[in-house]
Amino acid sequence: MAGELVFAPLGGVGEIGMNLAIYGLGDQRRRTWLVVDVGVSFASEENLPGIDLIFPDIRYLVEERRNIAGIVLTHAHEDHYGAMLDLWPKLKVPVYATPFTAALLEAKRQGEYGVPEIPITKIALGSRFNVGPFDIELVSVAHSIPESNALILRTPHGNVLHTGDWKLDPTPVLGPPTDEAKLRALGAEGCHVLIGDSTNAVREGRSPSESDVAKTLTELIVKAPRRVAVTTFASNVARIKAVAIAARQAEREIVVVGRAMDRVIAVARETGYLEGVQPFHGADVYGHLPPDKVVALCTGSQGEPRAALARIAQDEHPEVALSKGDRVIFSSRPIPGNEKAIGRIINGLIDQGVEVITDRTHLVHVSGHPRQAELEDMIGWVKPRTVIPVHGESLHLSEHAALARRLGARTQMIRNGDLVRLAPGDPEIIDEVPAGRIYKDGSLLIQAESRTVAYRKRLSFSGVISVALAINDKGQLLADPEVEMIGIPDSTADGMPMGDIAYNAVVETFDTLPKARRRDPDSVAEAIRRGVRAAVAQHWRKKPNVTVHILIV
Ligand SMILES: [Zn+2]
Ligand SMILES: [Zn+2]
Repeated sequence: MAGELVFAPLGGVGEIGMNLAIYGLGDQRRRTWLVVDVGVSFASEENLPGIDLIFPDIRYLVEERRNIAGIVLTHAHEDHYGAMLDLWPKLKVPVYATPFTAALLEAKRQGEYGVPEIPITKIALGSRFNVGPFDIELVSVAHSIPESNALILRTPHGNVLHTGDWKLDPTPVLGPPTDEAKLRALGAEGCHVLIGDSTNAVREGRSPSESDVAKTLTELIVKAPRRVAVTTFASNVARIKAVAIAARQAEREIVVVGRAMDRVIAVARETGYLEGVQPFHGADVYGHLPPDKVVALCTGSQGEPRAALARIAQDEHPEVALSKGDRVIFSSRPIPGNEKAIGRIINGLIDQGVEVITDRTHLVHVSGHPRQAELEDMIGWVKPRTVIPVHGESLHLSEHAALARRLGARTQMIRNGDLVRLAPGDPEIIDEVPAGRIYKDGSLLIQAESRTVAYRKRLSFSGVISVALAINDKGQLLADPEVEMIGIPDSTADGMPMGDIAYNAVVETFDTLPKARRRDPDSVAEAIRRGVRAAVAQHWRKKPNVTVHILIV
């Protein structure tokens, strides 16, 4: 087969979040694309007023829509599939996912208004299947959600391992451990390129097992004197199962608090991941259970203000309350950017006399990503000729690359939007494809480069003064100007009303304008805008945003 195999990340490289990778087979004139993952980023860590979600810009895929063979989702974490509901309708191409991922996406879709049905072809764990010209085999990997998969792509130009998110955990509580045998077999068959998770490449050693966390949780729940609330990522079904086992041992009932948790539990039961686990209760039962007979399983581990735990901490939850002597376990770690929100909740709970346990002092959480010794195992098994680090910020990528080089692999560093020829030959960057970010603003999608959010930031920094003037066609003022201020200090350091300063600036600027210019509304508006800005800035050392409306009567 002529042609080549190319790869481009449209998100997820140089950042943690919004993973979207494309593979292309063919030649420059016509390629067929395979999309791997369509993830989202959360705006919380960036100063983007009014924006919750960030998506990869897929304008290139929209253009190439007819040449896309399909989308494969590696697993159901938001950073890998969270943009599907918003972006798939722009592509409408076939989607492939394992049963848990497919069911969770469908459950999520049903919870949102107006999202069209997404037809998904369900693929079995560990299976080999074709998407257009792509020959794909799933490799089960341990992670922090059921059914995380690495992908082996076999092409006429060589084999690629796309690791997705993974770790090594011989005792994962739920689901199979990472399929070492299949990875070793790939190593024997030959692996041209490994494209892999770099999240924890800066951390030495190995991550502890989910089973170790389960042990700690059991101890903490069995020995708790009064009520226990546990918060974790809703999608971490193994953790939910560990809490359920601990609760049973402590002869306590599980009460589920929070919609996202309800949804994941329903899907996990439907797909068989909670078989043999006792039934849980809804939040309505909480008030009827004695304090030493309940474990509340809550959403909100990231400090989300509308989630269960935040409302409980503020004593605003209609059914669930905590009090002095109760114990809250954060079975989670803050996603960077969420520390302050989580800190507020922790402080609120401590102020109420609640005992808070986090991973700072107890092994109540482990990451789902490989540390250095695990990365070494993976590279040792697969023996890739070249490693391309993805899924990480610059530091993570460079540490992953350094580790790969120490083990004798070549490395190729890339950025979002780089088009890399993976084969034939050693990988090299040959071109660029359009890449960027889209913000979800209310129900609308806007380009990150659009001025909307930049302007919103400016307003939040220095407020707005709006001025209205009525003038006649001779350039005479017909009434006193109107000045309205939003987000501007009331008075100067000397106690002068800021409104007077703005008003005087309007009148003085207008009076000093030559007669001829007064008849040109644009010219008047611009002069007044500058005049007001300068006058207020003199007292404030900050420049307000000023808008001027001229009405010609
Ligand atoms: Zn993940
Ligand atoms: Zn991820």
